[in-house]
Amino acid sequence: MAVHQFQAEVNQLLQLIIHSLYSHREIFLRELVSNASDAIDKLKYLTLSDDAYKAIAFEPAISISFDAAAGTLSIADNGVGMDEADLVENLGTIARSGTRRFIEAMEADKRKDSNLIGRFGVGFYASYMVADEVTVTTRKAGQDTAWVWKSDGKGSYDIEPGARESHGTTVVLKANDDGREFLSRWRLEELVKKYSNHVAFPIRLAYDEDEYDEKGKKKGSKIHKDEQINSAQALWRRPKAELKDEDYVEFFKNISDSDEAPLFWTHTKAEGTIEYTTLFYIPSKAPFDLYHADYKPGVKLYVRRVFITDDDKELLPVYLRFIRGVIDSEDLPLNVSRELLQQNRVMNSIRTASVKKVLSELKDLSTADKDKYASFIAEFNRPLKEGLYGDFANREALLELVRFKSSSVDGWTSFADYKSRMKDDQKAIWYLTGDAEERLRKSPLLEMYRKQGVEVLICPDEIDELVMPMVGRFGDIELKAINRAGAEKELEGKPDEKKAKDLAPAIERIKKALGDEVKDVRLSSRLTDSPSCIVVDGDDPSLQLQQFMKSMGRADGIEVKPILEVNGDHPLFARLSASDDETLAADVSRVLLDQALLVEGAPIKDPADFVTRMNRLIG
Ligand code: ADP
Repeated sequence: MAVHQFQAEVNQLLQLIIHSLYSHREIFLRELVSNASDAIDKLKYLTLSDDAYKAIAFEPAISISFDAAAGTLSIADNGVGMDEADLVENLGTIARSGTRRFIEAMEADKRKDSNLIGRFGVGFYASYMVADEVTVTTRKAGQDTAWVWKSDGKGSYDIEPGARESHGTTVVLKANDDGREFLSRWRLEELVKKYSNHVAFPIRLAYDEDEYDEKGKKKGSKIHKDEQINSAQALWRRPKAELKDEDYVEFFKNISDSDEAPLFWTHTKAEGTIEYTTLFYIPSKAPFDLYHADYKPGVKLYVRRVFITDDDKELLPVYLRFIRGVIDSEDLPLNVSRELLQQNRVMNSIRTASVKKVLSELKDLSTADKDKYASFIAEFNRPLKEGLYGDFANREALLELVRFKSSSVDGWTSFADYKSRMKDDQKAIWYLTGDAEERLRKSPLLEMYRKQGVEVLICPDEIDELVMPMVGRFGDIELKAINRAGAEKELEGKPDEKKAKDLAPAIERIKKALGDEVKDVRLSSRLTDSPSCIVVDGDDPSLQLQQFMKSMGRADGIEVKPILEVNGDHPLFARLSASDDETLAADVSRVLLDQALLVEGAPIKDPADFVTRMNRLIG
């Protein structure tokens, strides 16, 4: 017998699940049934696509049985099974690094947000909420040896050779005190109906029933029964009219390993040159791995009800990776190569139509149910913006869906709303990018726009920095950043020529004092209260974009010196103009630059130096 240690993360995950999902421990059954169903899916696929498995004939089934006296519960499937190496890999380690990072985040988050864990498949290990010991007896399809994996979930597990009549897996739980309630026909039936009714394979429950005589008197003997307890229909293939909201919600929880109801779904049956059914869900909360490169895709592909893959990141475009659901095609060949799916003409048409459908449903939602749409935006605005960046074909639709914060109104606003509020002579949609909404709202750059009552979109997402310039326009209206040199000239802020001439010498002194730390120093016509601000030239990257690129290790060649704009009416500037003391001029210049950087949230070169000069100026 070989004793193995769990990978450290498995232990962490076990602890985490036991502590945070404790009150939902009944979900262990859904997780085990879902694994069983996946295993059958995999074997069905192999028998259809791989000659080595063609000879395997089997009647898919998941069988649940229990023994109240012995305190055991068993879930068996005749799916693909596992060999020794699979057991180590699948039940002893956590393969996805996204999961690992998730655990770290959860560990760091002492509140142990159980909602967070609800959004993430806990899988097999959920068993340890209801069991002291779990035994997995399994035989891989096409092989003769069976293996027995056993663990009490406390750090290690054993694997030894065993026996199993045929391919598949049997998981036996030795119930702990909390698990005993599940050793009941009624409880198990209730849970299967609640969580797994629409699993596409029959789930059978075996139990013993008291036997009665003709007079209705208990005989003391028992009859053994074995019956199917789920509907075993692929839900997406049933007519919409027959389906209730509860059915859709249950199915979502099943395929997404989630405990939260979805926000929204759309179920489509397409009949025409290409026939297919899609059922797409938008979760109410973003999947935990939404921003991880190795996120788990959420759409399963079926061909005529046969599962093909749930691991293809391009069934939908990447920016729609938060969508969960099913695509079931009538026209793809069953043995469609998973590698070649991308090039498949049928698949491409389904993908294109699916994206259009999802986007148009979202559009409808945005007018039909504003609250729901706001919840959607709170979670998924950013991926939509990625779409603006990458999905040129659907740009118009996406432009109508994305939302922004605004300097003039509360809550979210769309481009169209902004447009409807524009002043008659306003030529552009103005926006300000940066790294935090609160900071942006206080930016000196907004002063003149506020004064003139011109609305500015507040864009605190890193991605705005890339998306807004690339999108360039909404209909016939240009999008313009207010942190660009010269942007103010398009408002009423025409620089005063005479004043500019009078103040030119003082501006020169600042330029000299700051040397090559700035690209230029200019008299600003956009500031009213603040002493200074930072702007960038035409196509230069903003400070935030430069910092972002730096954090991605891609700083080379993009560093651009800022342009300092100063407020000629500010007392600080007046002090410099009024004196020919060069130390004072240096202090004022530095403080003007550092202040402007600070309000932008950018690092300053020498904080101690800034404080010294500031104090000297106050003194
Ligand atoms: P998940 O199902 O989210 O991948 P689990 O912890 O539930 O995570 O399972 C880990 C892996 O173990 C599965 O991906 C699968 O490869 C394997 N596995 C679990 N249960 C079974 C089963 N009944 N038959 C075959 N393989 C299984």
